[in-house]
Amino acid sequence: MISDITPFRMIGNLYFVGTYAASSHLLVTSEGLMLIDTGYDYNAETIVDSVTKLGFDIKDLKYILHSHGHGDHTDATAALVALTGAKTFLGREDLRYIKGFTPDVFYEDNMTVRLGDTQIRCVFTPGHTEGAYSFFFDVTEGENRYRCGMFGGAGPNQLKKDYMHKRGVSYLMRGEFFKSIERMKQEHVDVFVGNHAWHNHTKEKAARLLTAAENPFIDPTEWVPFLEKSAEKLHEIILDESRTHFVNYAHRGASEYTPENTEIAFETGLKMGANGIETDVRRTKDGVLVLHHDETTARLAGVDRAVRDLTLDELCALPFEKNGVTDHAMTLEDFLRKFGEYPITFAIELKDEGIEQDVADLLVRYGVAGKCIVTSFHFDYIKNIKALAPALRVGWLVKDVDEEKVAALMAIGGEEICPRATEITPERVENWHRLGLNVRAWGVADEALMRAVYDSGADGMTVNFPDKLSTYIIAQQA
Ligand SMILES: [Zn+2]
Repeated sequence: MISDITPFRMIGNLYFVGTYAASSHLLVTSEGLMLIDTGYDYNAETIVDSVTKLGFDIKDLKYILHSHGHGDHTDATAALVALTGAKTFLGREDLRYIKGFTPDVFYEDNMTVRLGDTQIRCVFTPGHTEGAYSFFFDVTEGENRYRCGMFGGAGPNQLKKDYMHKRGVSYLMRGEFFKSIERMKQEHVDVFVGNHAWHNHTKEKAARLLTAAENPFIDPTEWVPFLEKSAEKLHEIILDESRTHFVNYAHRGASEYTPENTEIAFETGLKMGANGIETDVRRTKDGVLVLHHDETTARLAGVDRAVRDLTLDELCALPFEKNGVTDHAMTLEDFLRKFGEYPITFAIELKDEGIEQDVADLLVRYGVAGKCIVTSFHFDYIKNIKALAPALRVGWLVKDVDEEKVAALMAIGGEEICPRATEITPERVENWHRLGLNVRAWGVADEALMRAVYDSGADGMTVNFPDKLSTYIIAQQA
């Protein structure tokens, strides 16, 4: 394909050889050619055509650097490697995104890639992907040297929840994105090189380049505002999601009105407008995972027996009664069979130790891993299940929060902080969001607290009266 942007020299030894949809930049060095990003499959042909038009030989291509692993930056690489034998570079964490080639070199943070008279500093800037890298290099134009900079992963749309769920990306990447931007703002950049043409207005500047007295690509005022705008966009996405994707979890079902953790309680919760179900998992004497909150059945059935000392049959024989409604305990597997395909979010709380593997297996087998969050008050339980099944999102239920707890949660890759509702403030929610954490409250004792949590910008809450919460949410969104 002929490019929709005529290939041109940007500045110094830096050339543009990509398309509007996928930028590729060529550095012509004293010892051959270096390419930054390749693009979609069809871009291979474009790049060859563009390099030839500029008067260079594609066979001189020595290195291909990738800003990150997404297909619009890497799909054309395999064809170019086949043609030239060029050595390829990628962030190790992005291996799962690429196809058709094996990177020769994984970057290290701050490493320098040298070819002849040109060197590129590669800085680890995760967020947009787990292994995104940014690039800095100097070019000479006339008497002057200019610092070029490319931010390796600028798009915040890939950090929307729906997209992250589909790709199995952790929410924590949002926090990494903000951190990377803060780090990149410290760099001085004279020439902002976009890895998409709309980032640095490649097309418009290319047109001006023909007539302008000064090179329009030289603009030291562009870099920081661009970064700030990217961060602001992600912040808006997160705020918007906390309004449109707020999860109203029926806590043990609609437990204010029906016997908790029973089928009727869950069904009632959904009828009342809940878009999530929260439940608790324990193991019976005969090894079955069942949904039951307390250690014993005293409160629900008036029989003081530990769940772990009852067989499944013995437990299910006990009637649970509330407000004239009677139902029985159910197993986790029956629950998943019945509700697993509903388009709702599940919060599964681990109440027993040693059940992590079996719970993880069931969640994966019933296909709910992407739409559930596994929680516990016991840090070890969530740590264990995260280690056994990294694709499961985990949350930590805490009575009070401090920085140490937040750091511990993030250190195991945990995605959700679940403080007692009275601990929630809008400022704290915003801070946790900036770290990439989801925020969900528990212990919502009354409607005033319920409203305060919703208004704080949190992502969800467990509530015994999901009808009242859904009424409030509808009123706020009207
Ligand atoms: Zn991308």
